[in-house]
Amino acid sequence: MSQMYPTYSSTCGWSAMLPPRRPHPALERDASVDFAVIGAGFTGLAVARRLHEIDPQARVMVLEAGTVDQGSSARNSGFTAPEVLPRNATLPGAEKARRQSALFGHAFEWMTGILDAHGIDCDLRQVGSIRAAATEAGEASLRRVIEVARANGIRHEVLDRRQIADRTGTEYYRIGIHVNDTYLLQPSALVQGLADCLPEGVALHERSPVTRLDRDGAGWRLTTPGGVVRARCVALANNGFIRSFGYLKLRMATIYTYAALSAPVAEADLPRLGADPAWGVLPAHRLGTTLRRVGRDRLMVRSLYALEGEIAPDAAAARLRDRFIRRWPALAHVPFAHVWGGTTALTMNGAPWWGRLAEGLFASGGCNGSGITKGTMLGWHLAGLMTGRETPEAVTDAMGTANLIAPEPFRSIGFHIVSALETRKAGLEA
Ligand SMILES: Cc1cc2nc3c(=O)[nH]c(=O)nc-3n(C[C@H](O)[C@H](O)[C@H](O)COP(=O)(O)OP(=O)(O)OC[C@H]3O[C@@H](n4cnc5c(N)ncnc54)[C@H](O)[C@@H]3O)c2cc1C
Repeated sequence: MSQMYPTYSSTCGWSAMLPPRRPHPALERDASVDFAVIGAGFTGLAVARRLHEIDPQARVMVLEAGTVDQGSSARNSGFTAPEVLPRNATLPGAEKARRQSALFGHAFEWMTGILDAHGIDCDLRQVGSIRAAATEAGEASLRRVIEVARANGIRHEVLDRRQIADRTGTEYYRIGIHVNDTYLLQPSALVQGLADCLPEGVALHERSPVTRLDRDGAGWRLTTPGGVVRARCVALANNGFIRSFGYLKLRMATIYTYAALSAPVAEADLPRLGADPAWGVLPAHRLGTTLRRVGRDRLMVRSLYALEGEIAPDAAAARLRDRFIRRWPALAHVPFAHVWGGTTALTMNGAPWWGRLAEGLFASGGCNGSGITKGTMLGWHLAGLMTGRETPEAVTDAMGTANLIAPEPFRSIGFHIVSALETRKAGLEA
């Protein structure tokens, strides 16, 4: 991969709606610490905070290439759930989901405890989510989800076109299932809040990309433009960009995906956003489109995928616009206020890569599009692994581990073939 760290051509829309934030100062001198964490997204912030909880005397430093309000953790759609729904109706499927839910539930509680303790307002609300299908194939896949919910005794509501339209204002979907597992939140407010209330023993330096990572005696040497950091132990929490240090090259790929927020709609148009004051829609197909109502009067659309590089901003905006108008033709006059892209790390089998890479070197990456609670959970446990309090099995038994992806050029060829086939399959779910 050519880039050491992500740079984006667009500003994060969630951050643009918040008051401007003053980033923590960049590193401007050499330093020695016990623990260095690369990346201040949900994963890195959880690693750093948990390290401090375990050993309050330890010197912990977080190095972030950009600013927290412009990282991927700020750029996401703000859907998260403390529970994992079983993938299938089998007993092993239910058992796997139960074990993952125990990990997720604990991390979610830890995270919301921090929000409460520091008065962080990220508009967190449990509204559930509607998984919705617009096509016959999407309906077939949703009916399997309904079966799984029934078989596992998960409370849910099946919605028809009219009921979905009443709630969300769009008549686009033929069937949906509402499950109350999901929380919606303002992702930038959440990650900014978590970064800005780190304990005193944790130093955060933004605009401090790590451009080299070398062995240094028994520890590690991290080079940034403003200074060199020597650390006894390092956590790579920079997701797909872990590969820029030469690790996990065949375990994950960076995928760019895009979101747009509408301008506020006029008072007269409010009924077109549906009767529910807050709602979120997840697609029936994995290459489909995510939607949510934001605040009282805006809509968000998230869609599109690109491998290892950005889509041209105008093209991304036009394609998101198409998705918006197909769903709310009567709102075609409402412009987008913000359009932005962000990265997520994809693994072949959907499992993250989490664990020890070498003596004193640990990594967690590959949240596959659901990093809020998952990244927090993986970060919390990585700190345990780094300090010898936990064994790897605590996480890997429940989560699995990322398997091998084909090397280049086969990876790109494969991605384009699969993505073309899947895009055709997704059809109007996109
Ligand atoms: C548009 C979009 C919508 C999404 N929707 C959702 C959603 O609704 N719910 C959900 O849970 N997830 C969602 N995701 C995925 C989620 O954002 C990621 O899973 C999450 O950000 C992963 O967190 P992380 O901390 O592991 O990695 P990141 O958030 O990517 O954080 C890694 C950090 O490392 C920094 N970094 C990289 N290289 C270096 C370096 N060399 N030196 C220093 N710092 C470096 C980066 O700048 C970045 O800030 C979405 C993602 C996108 C893009």
